[in-house]
Amino acid sequence: MESKFLFLINLLVLQYLAVLCVSQDFDFFYFVQQWPGSYCDSGKSSCCYPTTGKPAADFGIHGLWPNYNDGSYPQNCDPNNPFDESKISDLISNMRRNWPTLACPSGSGETFWSHEWEKHGTCSESVFDQHSYFETTLGLKQQTNLLQALKTAGIKADGRTYSLGDIKDAIKEGTGYTPWIECNQDSSGNSQLYQVYLCLDNSGSSLIECPVFPKGKKCGSEIEFPVF
Ligand code: AMP
Ligand code: AMP
Repeated sequence: MESKFLFLINLLVLQYLAVLCVSQDFDFFYFVQQWPGSYCDSGKSSCCYPTTGKPAADFGIHGLWPNYNDGSYPQNCDPNNPFDESKISDLISNMRRNWPTLACPSGSGETFWSHEWEKHGTCSESVFDQHSYFETTLGLKQQTNLLQALKTAGIKADGRTYSLGDIKDAIKEGTGYTPWIECNQDSSGNSQLYQVYLCLDNSGSSLIECPVFPKGKKCGSEIEFPVF
C-alpha cells in the first residue's frame, strides 16, 4: 500500500518535471517573411540573386524563430544536428521559390537555410525535425499569402507610399492575425516595408496573436513598398 502510494507520488513528480522542461524550451515562434525589393535597394550591401535565378516578385521566407515571451530567444541549440540538405531533397524546388537567398556572393540557398536551421531550427527540436521544420515553414508562407492580402486592399509593390495602418489592416484581414512590420531604408533614406512578423504557437500547429512584438526602430506612419 505504502509503496504504491510512493510510486504514484514519484510518477506525479516526474510528470511535473517533464512539463517544466517542455515549457522551458520556448514560448512561441516568429514566422518572418521579407520583401526582396527592400533587401535589395537598401544600399548598404545590396543583394545578389541566387545562382538559380532572380526570385519572383513575392515575399520570401526569412525564418521560423523560437522565442520567449520576454522577447529573448534561444539560438544554436544543437551542434550535433547540422543542416543536411539530403533530408529535405523533396522540398528544394519549393525552397528555391519561396525561401530565396539574397546574400552576396550568389549562392544556391544552402548557406542561408543552413544558418536558419542551425541558429533557430535546432531550438525547436522538441517539435520539429529538419524536414518538418522546413515543410511547416513553407506551408505557412502559402497559408498567409501576404502579397494577395495586400493586393486585395489595393496595396502593391509599385514604389508608392502606403500607410502603415492600412498595411497592417490588410494583413490582419487576409491572415486573421495582427502582424508586426519591420522597416528598413532605401538608398535615399525612405522608410520601407522590409519584414512581416506573424506568430505560431509553440506546438507549431497554429498561428496566434503575437505574445510580444520585436523591439525595434519605428517605421513611421507612411512607408514605401518598393518594386522588385
Ligand atoms: P537571423 O540570423 O536568422 O536572425 O537573420 C539575420 C541574418 O540573415 C543576417 O545575417 C542577414 O544578413 C541574413 N539574411 C536576411 N535575409 C536574407 C536573405 N534573403 N538571404 C540571405 N541572408 C539573409
Ligand atoms: P506608435 O506609433 O508606437 O504609437 O504605435 C501606434 C500603434 O501602432 C500601436 O498599436 C503599435 O503597437 C502599432 N505599431 C507601431 N509600429 C508598428 C509596426 N512597425 N508594426 C506593427 N504595429 C506597429
